[in-house]
Amino acid sequence: GWQYRFPTTMHLLSCTRPLLDWVVRERVRKHPRIHLMERTTALALLGDATRVSGVRVSARASGPREPYDLHAALVVDATGRSSAAPKWLAALGPATPLAECVDPGLSYTTVQYKGAPGSDVPFLGVHIRPDRDHPRGAVLLPVEADRWILTAYGMRGHQPPTDQAGVLHFLGGLADPVLHEWARHNEPAAPPRGFRNTANRRYLYERAGAAPSGFLAVGDACCTFNPIHGHG
Ligand SMILES: Cc1cc2nc3c(=O)[nH]c(=O)nc-3n(C[C@H](O)[C@H](O)[C@H](O)COP(=O)(O)OP(=O)(O)OC[C@H]3O[C@@H](n4cnc5c(N)ncnc54)[C@H](O)[C@@H]3O)c2cc1C
Repeated sequence: GWQYRFPTTMHLLSCTRPLLDWVVRERVRKHPRIHLMERTTALALLGDATRVSGVRVSARASGPREPYDLHAALVVDATGRSSAAPKWLAALGPATPLAECVDPGLSYTTVQYKGAPGSDVPFLGVHIRPDRDHPRGAVLLPVEADRWILTAYGMRGHQPPTDQAGVLHFLGGLADPVLHEWARHNEPAAPPRGFRNTANRRYLYERAGAAPSGFLAVGDACCTFNPIHGHG
């Protein structure tokens, strides 16, 4: 059934990932002690089996891109879920770090819709959770630029499709019809996008011999959670 409504002091700010990234990036750019190199890709780690001493990078330009080296006392890997550091470290000599992985088989499909948030709907946002008889869920939230973001999700065997007709059909199988009805009467702003890489994974860099000195992995590069937990 529905959660009952009650006064709360908890607030939720919903926005798209590009807006969140932009706000963080602007703050970083203003920091006097941080030098940001835009459109630059890390290609490899420098050093040897005992110590990481820098990074090989290249500019993301359209013309010829000559890689160059940045030397550092400490290299922090913050390249996220797709970090190539285990491969780069293996090239320096130490064994590839062990990884613990628990894959729940969860899949997402997200669609942005046009529309003015709060205009003629009786809710600020909706989350229809899965239950025993309906192993699929969906969340609808308003975001910037008068848009809504709808994410449908399901476990193995109930993956949401990535085409608009398929998404609508999927929403029809939720435990409550409210999001199916809403989506039928609203216009998508862009085609659906799927996300399947939802496994929980932790690299055991702290194990002896897993990483040379001068190297630190942070955030998703070290440990990623199934996004359903909402914990970055
Ligand atoms: C679908 C989904 C929903 C989520 N929902 C939530 C939520 O509700 N709440 C929450 O707290 N967390 C959520 N998370 C998790 C959260 O997004 C991550 O934990 C967080 O973004 C990790 O931050 P990070 O800085 O470690 O990595 P990222 O945010 O992934 O940043 C890594 C950056 O490194 C760049 N990069 C990668 N490789 C290179 C390279 N070789 N050279 C240069 N740059 C590179 C990437 O372009 C990217 O900008 C969600 C994740 C997903 C996938």
